[in-house]
Amino acid sequence: MRRLVIEGAHVATVDAVDREFVGGHVVVDGSRIIAVGDGPAPPWVFADGVEVESVDGSGHLLTPGLVNTHHHLYQWLTRGIAQDSILFDWLVALYPTWARIDEDLVEAGAEAALAVLAKSGCTLAADHHYVFPRGSGDIVGGIVRAAARVGIRLHGTRGSMDLGRSAGGLPPDFAVETTAVALDASALAVERYHDASADSMVQIALAPCSPFSVTSELLTEAATLGRSLGVRLHTHGSETVEEDAFCQERFGKTPTQYLEDLGWLGDDVWMAHSVHLDDHAIARFGATATGSAHCPSSNARLAAGIAPIPQLLRAGAPVGLGVDGSASNESGQLGTEIRQAVLMNRLRAGADGFSVRDGLRIATVGGARVLGRDADLGSIEVGKLADLALWDLRGVEFAGLVDPVASLGLASMPPLAGLFVGGRRVVDDGRLTTINEVGVARAAARASADLLGRV
Ligand code: ZN
Repeated sequence: MRRLVIEGAHVATVDAVDREFVGGHVVVDGSRIIAVGDGPAPPWVFADGVEVESVDGSGHLLTPGLVNTHHHLYQWLTRGIAQDSILFDWLVALYPTWARIDEDLVEAGAEAALAVLAKSGCTLAADHHYVFPRGSGDIVGGIVRAAARVGIRLHGTRGSMDLGRSAGGLPPDFAVETTAVALDASALAVERYHDASADSMVQIALAPCSPFSVTSELLTEAATLGRSLGVRLHTHGSETVEEDAFCQERFGKTPTQYLEDLGWLGDDVWMAHSVHLDDHAIARFGATATGSAHCPSSNARLAAGIAPIPQLLRAGAPVGLGVDGSASNESGQLGTEIRQAVLMNRLRAGADGFSVRDGLRIATVGGARVLGRDADLGSIEVGKLADLALWDLRGVEFAGLVDPVASLGLASMPPLAGLFVGGRRVVDDGRLTTINEVGVARAAARASADLLGRV
């Protein structure tokens, strides 16, 4: 038996009543939390015959591991491109490069992106992968291997695009698959990689890309297939005014009306962005418990708009935080995205419209709910999996900061003293314990140069 005991930290549990302990303790036995509370750990924790790893948390903030609900990990290889474009122009600029990816390149890019996520407090990352060139190998498998090496949980997707330009879609024809190929490969990815267990390190969702790159048939069939396999559904929705205009022109509906008519609202669905939602759409998200991945940095970089996150939360809709793909959020860090969410939402909702604890909540248990894992993840509570982030507040950056949680929400992302995934230490004093970061950085740089050289 092995126990991890963290004492002396400011513990932000993000439980249902937002309990926080100044100088509290958290005890982990194996992969799960067995005690949380004020002051030092109780004596029974240190019973004879129990191997204990003690961590001094004084001067630190302990939060649940952060949950990233939307990413495109492969985009680590195409950062800094089309810097001044809106979404549609940015996509058109990048599709020809993305259409030349393969399993090995994606694996190298994903490992770098996942490493940066882990170093910024993330213990569970969703990835939306939707570009599958013919003959490109097992791309989902490459991403699964990368996550296993880095040591954080992955909710991968088998995404898809089947609406090329000649049929009225945005992507070039060479970047899309046929509907049948996409559906067959989706079923295969679930069969190969999806683990539905409570402790799962890998789950797979089905994720047709967006209303302007996917046929109605694929959306309908993917929803039916996903539900028959018991996996979640993910897509982009209501990201830009151009997407709204596309749906109005082609279908005579808003993106939300269109997606709802195809079976794409529900508590097993989450959408990336949810920026341009009218009151009706917000009410439908709430009534159906459809999730949203809020990606404030990406929305700002592409000038997409400010998502109505406080309204979605008031409607009862699940909301998580996301970094989005690294080509529209070159930082790739999740911890910094909390502050971005706080600042951005206040531009629309007012100074008291979105608190630092609202930010921490969507970044943790909110995201776990969006991904269907909140029974086991997202908050520091007895019985839950020990996915934890320990932030070091002893530096000059935080000296005199009266609220430790305001470090992530208003000040700057603190150094990560420790990251634990199911009780396993993945980051120690800012460095990954699982991989050689220098080697991963070199491999990602090589893969990026290789890919850009193919165009
Ligand atoms: Zn995206």
